[in-house]
Amino acid sequence: MTSELDATASAHDGADPLRHYRSLFTGAETPLVYFDGNSLGRPPLAVAEMLAGFVDDEWGGRLIRGWDERWMRLPFDIGDRIGKVAIGAAPGQTVIGDSTTVLLYKLVRAALAERRAADPARVEIVVDRDNFPTDRFIVEGIAAECGARVRWIDVDLDGGVTSEALRSAVGAHTAVVLLSHVAYRSGYLADAAELTAIAHGAGALIVWDLCHSAGSVPVRSDEWGFDLAVGCTYKYLNGGPGSPAFAYVAERLQPVLAQPIQGWMGAADVFAMGPEYAPGDGMRRWLSGTPPILGMLPMTVTLDMLESAGIVAVRAKSIELTEFALAVSDRILAPLGVKVASPRDPDLRGGHLTLSHPTMRAVTQRLWQGDVIPDYREPDGLRIGLSPLSTSFGEVVRGLRRVADAVRDLSDDTH
Ligand SMILES: *Cc1c(COP(=O)(O)O)cnc(C)c1O
Repeated sequence: MTSELDATASAHDGADPLRHYRSLFTGAETPLVYFDGNSLGRPPLAVAEMLAGFVDDEWGGRLIRGWDERWMRLPFDIGDRIGKVAIGAAPGQTVIGDSTTVLLYKLVRAALAERRAADPARVEIVVDRDNFPTDRFIVEGIAAECGARVRWIDVDLDGGVTSEALRSAVGAHTAVVLLSHVAYRSGYLADAAELTAIAHGAGALIVWDLCHSAGSVPVRSDEWGFDLAVGCTYKYLNGGPGSPAFAYVAERLQPVLAQPIQGWMGAADVFAMGPEYAPGDGMRRWLSGTPPILGMLPMTVTLDMLESAGIVAVRAKSIELTEFALAVSDRILAPLGVKVASPRDPDLRGGHLTLSHPTMRAVTQRLWQGDVIPDYREPDGLRIGLSPLSTSFGEVVRGLRRVADAVRDLSDDTH
């Protein structure tokens, strides 16, 4: 039985049109199993040389001239590349900014202010109870700060926000809706086009959190009528720990929205040093302070890979990986009582799976010590993130077999 799984994995690996990308990542040749590329992507090999070159030539050689020569443009240039390669946005609508958390604050607060100015009855921000903690915390903070209300949507932990759930939460009081495209726990893939249309039908603006979709699932921000979006770059875009996030603001909203953290880098004329703030045009106004240039360089390596592979092929491999992991799990984990806490329909699932069992917290600790690295998510979920460019099918089998060993051992311990 074991050898049959290995044979299936190597058949998948042999037929995988993206298999050569794996060798472009640090550590892919080692026996370590990495199931957390959706939390912190592996570093591409080319990053070390790129950063060393940057320190020597640009930082060291050009010094402050670097700002005029290239760095001032980088948040916009790299933003446009994310727009093109990962989120379906025409140029001039995506910028690299602060952390996802801070960008969420800026966007949600700006959207609330605009909707409320148009109609003072619009005082509700709609968000689901299982959205990522920072998304919920930001919304609660803004509500307290601005005298607005939070309207919660209850969701199943192994699912996500459906059209019916959103329809019954929005109405004449809604200002803003904040949803994740791929749910961080279950991996549920929301129907972003339909949910956007529902928010718009109620007269609200919608902010999409693309943290677990950018670089893994095709996103068509322009085509689906998005208003605003944010996303992490250290997950499937391999930007490195703490690399800055991106923000998308649809062109039609750019002149209308005012962001709450006015800083000199967002001003119309950055070096005018004038007495008053005048917001810059386009995405410029979403910047606040000096952009984190060092932090935004590594992601460009992955953007090159995504561009050459194509997001459609990346998604096809992502589906094949999660389908395969489900099949292996059904075979060797289900008999141990492990349950799948993610959608079974690949059309409703992003790039990761959550497997639940009462032992999973201890299982995760044990696996980390043995160089098998999944993630643990409350209440009892083992999260398996499969990064299409760097995960192999062989890695999936090796890792899940170790999960089975650990579940078996730790279940015995509790008897
Ligand atoms: C990872 C993640 C974040 C992280 O936000 P940071 O500000 O980068 O810490 C936010 N939202 C979602 C949905 C995430 O998955």
